[in-house]
Amino acid sequence: MDTGLFVAWLDEAARLVRRDRERLTELDAAIGDADHGANLDRGFTEVAKALADRPPGSPAQVLTEAGTTLIRRVGGASGPLYGSMFRQMGRTLESPVTLFHFEAAFEAGVVALERLGKAAVGDKTMVDALVPASRALALAVRDGIGALEAFERAAAAAAEGARDTIPLQARKGRASYLGERSMGHEDPGAASTALIMEALATAAR
Ligand code: ADP
Ligand code: MG
Ligand code: MG
Repeated sequence: MDTGLFVAWLDEAARLVRRDRERLTELDAAIGDADHGANLDRGFTEVAKALADRPPGSPAQVLTEAGTTLIRRVGGASGPLYGSMFRQMGRTLESPVTLFHFEAAFEAGVVALERLGKAAVGDKTMVDALVPASRALALAVRDGIGALEAFERAAAAAAEGARDTIPLQARKGRASYLGERSMGHEDPGAASTALIMEALATAAR
């Protein structure tokens, strides 16, 4: 897994977020403040631009640059959360990047995000998509599965985790202010996590 793959991942994430910007905004309109699509579109567009303007020399640098840009450019809760996750991944990633090293870094990134947001699985946040994705990667490593198939499984697990947020009551973030009225809607952050994982699988194809 080389630097080019990581740049391709974030470029594809930017493309998918832009494609689904309205859907993410509508999800956030139902249980939040209707800015998740705009927040992430701005953030990932800036990430893609930063990576093009200042080509990073390693996979770790790609992740660190992406995280820093998201923290700087996204106003909402999702910016610092995703930003800290990518920065922690960059800090943890060992080279040469194997699936084993990637999985360890991804897991460390998810743990950092969980700590920052003080959210756990079941709170109806992006954590509900990130943790199943992380588990899928860990199982793929254990079973000696190749990177592409591992990413496809992680993407499927994230998408399922996002769908599974629909009946939940939100316990973190703006949606938690709605109490029981947050039930029956997919969490926007979990939906964007599914896109980010789908982007990883696409980049590896
Ligand atoms: P804001 O809510 O500040 O407008 P966004 O709309 O960009 O920010 O992002 C909202 C998403 O952020 C939610 O759908 C949820 O997935 C995630 N989120 C919010 N608070 C937390 C938290 N404390 N821990 C984890 N994720 C959170
Ligand atoms: Mg919002
Ligand atoms: Mg907001």
